[in-house]
Amino acid sequence: MEKYLKIIQESFSGYFNYLVQEITNPSWTNYFYWLIGLSLLVWTLEVLIPWRKEQGAFRKGFWLDSFYIIFNFFLFSLIGYNAISNVGVELFNDFLGLFGVENLVAINVQNLSVGVQLLIMFVVADFIQWNVHRQLHRIPQLWEFHKIHHSVKEMGFAAQFRFHFMETIIYKTVQYIPLAMIGFGIQEFFVIYMFSVFIGHLNHANVGWNYGFLGYILNNPKMHIWHHSKELPEAHPYGMNFGLSLSIWDYLFGSAYVPKNGKDIELGFEGDEDFPDNFGSQIMFPFLNKNKSTQKK
Ligand SMILES: [Zn+2]
Ligand SMILES: [Zn+2]
Repeated sequence: MEKYLKIIQESFSGYFNYLVQEITNPSWTNYFYWLIGLSLLVWTLEVLIPWRKEQGAFRKGFWLDSFYIIFNFFLFSLIGYNAISNVGVELFNDFLGLFGVENLVAINVQNLSVGVQLLIMFVVADFIQWNVHRQLHRIPQLWEFHKIHHSVKEMGFAAQFRFHFMETIIYKTVQYIPLAMIGFGIQEFFVIYMFSVFIGHLNHANVGWNYGFLGYILNNPKMHIWHHSKELPEAHPYGMNFGLSLSIWDYLFGSAYVPKNGKDIELGFEGDEDFPDNFGSQIMFPFLNKNKSTQKK
């Protein structure tokens, strides 16, 4: 027990020190400044070449989503995720130890070049995330959490980060075992992470891009807007276009749907009129609405 308390304490102080370090030491692998830089870049694109011309630079929900960026990117880690995950990993390792398992690695890719390892990790992680995202729509209890992301009524880059912190826990937990089973020899996930943040910003941006034929591989604004469509086609009662960074999974498994230019479609979900519009109530929403869960249909 003491061991776990120590991990919790060290995670808190460790992450806090790291955050201070991060802000005071700009560098090429600095999360804080890359996040700000990418956000400003995509926001500038929205202002210079807007898809929906009448949409303001400070669209509906802009400030709420800006707060979500800070919260989900930094504060949640600062407050608890780091501690929870470090304890989780330790508990899991101890659990495996009970069965004499010391190492999860099943496929070893350490000898491959860093570039290839990063690519494998990116593709595997994205495929797992695609599956998790589908479940967020299908399982009623998870959908209650995911509704927050779908409460966006006007789309802009920052909407990427409007999601419940439980999603971070769900995604990371599900990803942990498969990724741990592949013996990566790299510690540097920075490039992958920032690339996904960039693609995710663009997916939500008010920019009318689909990257031509590359759009069949990479998720894009013209495709992801349909994921946020309030009205769902009969063929896809639980939604469509579940891709995070890659669109290829939706094309491969038949959940891709871009029937026409989705520039002006209504966004949201059935019943979103009653959904709270402030951070505190949104975070509490899934916990208070457990009994009257309505599935997206
Ligand atoms: Zn979704
Ligand atoms: Zn989205």
